[in-house]
Amino acid sequence: MKTSNDSASCRHCRLPIQACQCSALFQRTLLQKNLLQESLHELPIEIELCTHPQEWQKDTNTGNWLQLQSAQIHRHRWHRKEPQTPPANAVLLYPGEDAIELSEYAKDHPIDSLWVVDASWQLSHKMIKQSPWLQSMPKVMLDIEKLPASQYQLRRNQKSLCTYESVVYALQALSSNSDNLHTMWDIFHTMQHAYLKSR
Ligand SMILES: [Zn+2]
Repeated sequence: MKTSNDSASCRHCRLPIQACQCSALFQRTLLQKNLLQESLHELPIEIELCTHPQEWQKDTNTGNWLQLQSAQIHRHRWHRKEPQTPPANAVLLYPGEDAIELSEYAKDHPIDSLWVVDASWQLSHKMIKQSPWLQSMPKVMLDIEKLPASQYQLRRNQKSLCTYESVVYALQALSSNSDNLHTMWDIFHTMQHAYLKSR
C-alpha cells in the first residue's frame, strides 16, 4: 500500500518530487520571494488567505499554489482566538445576504486587500462565526451565475469553486489587464494535471 511517506514531496507545492512543476512554473518567484520579495504577477490588490489548520498541510490545498506565484499573496494560519484587527480597506470574500458583488463594491470603495477564507464551506462558516475580526470586514462576493462551473477535480465531494478559482475570478472582477490571469489559469491546470498524474 502506498503511503504519503513512500516518496519525498516538494516543500513548496507538496506534490511528489517526480511530479513537481516548481522549477518550470515558479522558479522566478521562489527565488525572488527569498531574495527580493518581488512578484511573478503584479496584482491590483493584496490577497490574504486565511487558511484553516486542517487545510494548511493538505496537498490538495490550492491556496498554497496561489501563494507560490506572488509576494502579494499571503497565507495566514487561522486561529479563532487570534486578536487581529483588519487593516483599512480590507474586504472579505464570502457570499451572503450582506455581501455586495465585488466589482460593484469596487466602484465606490477603495480595496487594498481581499481576505479569503481557505477551508471547506462548513469550516469557513464556523471560522467566520468564531472570528469577530473576520466578521467586521465588509463582505463581497462573486457573481457566480455568470461564471463557469468549477474545474477543480481533486476533491470528489466539492462542487463549488475552489480557493484558487475564487481568487482568480476575484482578480478578474478587479483588473482591466487579464494577461496575468491567463498565466494563473495555465498554472492551475498544469498543477492539477501534475497532481492527478501523480496519484
Ligand atoms: Zn514543487
